[in-house]
Amino acid sequence: MTNAFLSLSYLLASILFVFSIRGLASPETARRGNVLGMIGMGIAILATLLSPAVEEIWWVLGAIALGGIIGVYSALKVKMTSLPQMIAAFNGLGGLSAVFISLAEIISGGQTWIESSLGLLIGAIAFSGSAIAFAKLQGLIKAKAIVFTGQQLLNLLLGLGTIGLTIAFCLTGDVKLFYALTAVSILLGFLLVLPIGGADMPVVISVLNAYSGWAAVGIGFSLHNVLLIIVGAIVGASGAILSYIMTKAMNRSLMSVMLGGFGAETKTSGNSNDEDKIAKSGNPTDAAFIMENANKVIIVPGYGMAVAQAQHILKEMADDLMKDGVEVKFAIHPVAGRMPGHMNVLLAEANVPYEQVFELEEINREFATADVAYVIGANDVTNPLAKNDPDSPIYGMPVLDVEKAKTVFFVKRSLNSGYSGVDNPLFYADNTIMLYGDAKKITEEIVGALEQK
Ligand code: NDP
Repeated sequence: MTNAFLSLSYLLASILFVFSIRGLASPETARRGNVLGMIGMGIAILATLLSPAVEEIWWVLGAIALGGIIGVYSALKVKMTSLPQMIAAFNGLGGLSAVFISLAEIISGGQTWIESSLGLLIGAIAFSGSAIAFAKLQGLIKAKAIVFTGQQLLNLLLGLGTIGLTIAFCLTGDVKLFYALTAVSILLGFLLVLPIGGADMPVVISVLNAYSGWAAVGIGFSLHNVLLIIVGAIVGASGAILSYIMTKAMNRSLMSVMLGGFGAETKTSGNSNDEDKIAKSGNPTDAAFIMENANKVIIVPGYGMAVAQAQHILKEMADDLMKDGVEVKFAIHPVAGRMPGHMNVLLAEANVPYEQVFELEEINREFATADVAYVIGANDVTNPLAKNDPDSPIYGMPVLDVEKAKTVFFVKRSLNSGYSGVDNPLFYADNTIMLYGDAKKITEEIVGALEQK
């Protein structure tokens, strides 16, 4: 393959990646976006394989086959609720490959010292940071923030150490300094993510995703590969924008997320009185009666709906209610579930029309005019402490104002807290009725009652 043809293929792949990202921005066009990305990646891989730079083609094909099999297997097996861990693992592998490529480049006498150092530094942090994020999300280590005295000072010193080692290596070319940089960067990645609590994990994953993109830019420069530079920059920039959007949705600054401590064990004032309070509970038949006689029902899905896989029966419930003349809308919080867009994906899978699905800002005012808020497996995203308790770790995060509806049903198995570990005082509110049980089972019983007429 000639260089001109290679450049042309890379250009085409890059254009397809840009259109892919554009498609992924909305649920309606996401599938098309995915397909465009896959075609772009196919072209990029094929063009690279045919380029004169590839000498040991069989090793490369073997690695692609092995990686491909593992990738397809894990994608088919992974549960939707475990996708964030998988994304963290894949980010980490991206970072690790940047580390290996940089090491290979320097050990083999490459002269791109600055580019390789940057690729290595960012890649190593993405690798070890993602490993901790994976372990937290998979429950291998505590999801809560792990904080100790002097942590930020230690991180600062390590950060300065990486800068010092990078400069020293670029001035001297001493490979030992490059190894030291690898070790310190990996340690820094571990320590940077340890103090970040569970509730901030989505942002961390997105930030690490951006890091793996910037690491690819670094190795793209050291390998003189234009496509890696372009794609790395797209991943780096879109990851950074996504992180910004997510921190905005949680009303937090990126700096405060990255400095950590959020989600650490804290006593909130909302917890202290809850022991004396009593939560009212109801049954699915009564809930069906109240909802079919309502004018407007707003459904708020959360992580528990995903666990129970209740989206299909939920759609059936919405359809039954609409047949009875009830207006039914779905309210989606930006961090409901365990990954960005989690609820949108599940509702789309159950064929809930997009026109019925609303984002937080679009629907929040409507709770005041709703007769029922049907909160199914959601918890943190409704917690009013985020609005009125400055001591709460989730203070400042915008939440869905479900309590403004005339009646609020909470479908969950207990009064336990959600991902952030913060109790929800809404369970004890006068207009709240708890429907204890598995989200799918309770909704099935409601549908049974609605259809028994
Ligand atoms: P939460 O984690 O706050 O609450 C989910 C609730 O679902 C739990 O309280 C649990 O209560 C209930 N539940 C679990 N299984 C079932 C079941 N089978 N049937 C019925 N209920 C069930 O979820 P939210 O969606 O409200 O909020 C998301 C949280 O996750 C936020 O804190 C967010 O920051 C965090 N997060 C978000 C990510 C994202 O990108 N969206 C990624 C990672 C974390 P019980 O045990 O009583 O049943």
